[in-house]
Formats: sequence, structure tokens, C-alpha cells
Amino acid sequence: MESVAQFLSAPHDTAFSFEILPPLRGKSISSTYADIETLMAFSPAYVNITTHRTEVTYKHIGDGTFREFSSQRRPGTVAIAAVLRERYGVRPVPHIICGDYSRREIEDQLIDLSYLGITDILALRGDRVRSAGIFTTAPDGHHHAADLAAQISDFNRGLMADGSQAEPVFPPFTFGVAGYPEKHEEAMNLSFDLRNLKAKVDAGASYVVTQMFFDNAKFFRFVERAREAGITVPIVPGLKPLTSLRQLSLLPRTFHIDLPEELSAELLKCTTDEQVKAIGVEWAVRQARELKEAHVPSIHFYAMHATKSVAEIARQVY
Ligand code: FAD
Repeated sequence: MESVAQFLSAPHDTAFSFEILPPLRGKSISSTYADIETLMAFSPAYVNITTHRTEVTYKHIGDGTFREFSSQRRPGTVAIAAVLRERYGVRPVPHIICGDYSRREIEDQLIDLSYLGITDILALRGDRVRSAGIFTTAPDGHHHAADLAAQISDFNRGLMADGSQAEPVFPPFTFGVAGYPEKHEEAMNLSFDLRNLKAKVDAGASYVVTQMFFDNAKFFRFVERAREAGITVPIVPGLKPLTSLRQLSLLPRTFHIDLPEELSAELLKCTTDEQVKAIGVEWAVRQARELKEAHVPSIHFYAMHATKSVAEIARQVY
């Protein structure tokens, strides 16, 4: 099976791909499988599975005191990746994040994945923990995704986290990284962010997947700027269909993105989630059609809470 990176670089019609989240700890996996099955009908080229940091929570234990618990809210990324391949025969792309993990723990994850034969990954720094204002990392962990990218490339060559030399890995990992058409929230400006994106590509990334955006002009400008900055790898646009009134303030706040005037004028007329969903599908169909006409290698759909909308978009666009 060719890697996602090889697939994206070879000539083909714009592919369909989507990203899912593992279920919340303690919830059944069945609704995740139901979502996957709905979207498998559109023959995704590959499926991404997110990875989540450990969060600290405080639970009242009844005597006026609280107990601290720390746990990953959505465990199971690697298991779901294995199921995607075995049960559905689709290329899985689990996400690997820096946050929480030392270099050695990341190496252990790479070893597990390589034993499973899963060698397509997305390499990310990871979000900050929700209670923290800034990104924090584990002792001997990475501060930026470029360092994680370098570790994966070293691992492919057999260079281990402790500096020892092992056998090169075969087949080697190939990986993508994240890009931000509206710049990452912490970057001073887009040029600085693109310089850091180029560092990830120079460290071995074979393609870029973007943060969601609602204005294609921003994506096209981003691709132009990336090319000017010397980034030549495929750039996959990320789309998210709007599905609820709550998202109208949540998405800009969480992802530091704008909703274009024309879209927001329509959304302001909505009083129910159903109305937002209808506009969300219509808008994403328009975006996806234009992106397809521009021959983007794939469209990455953020499918969380939006399976039906993504299915409807895929039905109309592919
Ligand atoms: P980086 O590339 O490290 O960049 C983070 C910031 O640091 C940027 O502002 C960058 O400009 C800056 N920077 C980079 N290098 C340097 C340097 N040397 N000096 C100074 N500044 C620097 N999060 C999760 O937790 N789990 C997921 O599964 C997940 N999946 C995602 C999938 C996609 C497609 C995208 C786009 C994002 C995803 N995220 C996920 C969110 C991502 O982890 C956050 O946006 C995170 O804040 C940044 O990750 P990064 O890999 O882009 O980091």
C-alpha cells in the first residue's frame, strides 16, 4: 500500500478524507464506528484520528475536599487506527503530539505503530491543556512540532532518543504537519509562521494539512505564500461544516479564524441549529467545489459532530 504522502504527491482527482476523534473516556466506541461507516460510503483515501492531552480534573469526594484526577479524555487513537485498517481497509493516519510525552515515550509510540505496520502519521505539537494559558511540555519533551518531525526522521534512520544507533525502520514513517491559512494564534505574523512551517518540512514532513477556514481566498493566498517561502510539498485544505449556533462564537475563539461577511450575514438570520446546519452544508459545498476546481490533492473534513453534514457534502461534491 502506498503511503498517504506518495498518494498526495501523485496525480489524481481531489480525494476525500476525514478526521475523527476517539470517544470520550468511558463512552462506547459504537457511535464512532457508525460515523466511520457513514463516511466510508464515499471511499476516503485515508482517515485521520486525533490524539488528546492528559487533562487534570477535580472531583468532589463528599467530605468537603476534592481529589485530583488526571487522564486523557479521549484515549484509543492507536487502537482505532488499527481497526480502521483491519475492519475497513482504509489507510489510518493517527496523530502524534508532543504535549505530555518525553522523547522516549514518543519513541515507544513509534515502535508500537511500526509493529502494527501503521506508518502514516500527522506530527503535531498538540493543544495546550485547557486549564493552562500556555503550551507546556513533559520533561525531555519537544516544544515544537519541528523537533518531533526531526525525531521521527531520526527514528526512520535508526537514531534513537538516547543517541544510540539501531536498525533503520522499514517501511519508514511518512508524515504530514499542520499549517494555518490565518496563521497560528501564537505566531507573530504569517511570515514567521511560514518560516516555522518550512522548518517542519525541512525536518522531513511530506505534506501539510491546514486548519479549518471558511474563506477560500485565504487558503489560496496561503498556498501562494508557502510556495514563495520555499515550501513545495502538497497542501491539503481542511474544511469544517458549521452545525450549531454555539459554533458561531466557539470556532473563532478556539481556532482564531474569521467567518467571512457573506457567511456571517446568512448565519445571523438563523435561530436554530438546523438552520445553521443547512447553511453550513451549502457553504462547505461551495468551498469544496472551488477547491476541487483548483485541483487540491485532497479535502480534509473535520467530521466531529458533523458526520451527516460531511456525508451530504461528499454526496454533492464527489
Ligand atoms: P508548531 O508547528 O510547533 O507551531 C506552534 C507555534 O509555535 C506556531 O505559532 C509556530 O509559528 C511557533 N513556532 C514553531 N517553531 C518555533 C520556533 N522554533 N520558535 C518560536 N516559535 C515557533 N491538537 C491536538 O492536541 N491533537 C490533535 O490530534 C490535533 N490535530 C490537528 C490536526 C490538524 C490538521 C491541525 C491543523 C491541528 C491539529 N491540532 C491538534 C492542533 C495543534 O496541535 C495546535 O494548533 C497547536 O497549538 C500547534 O500545533 P503545531 O503542530 O502546528 O505546532
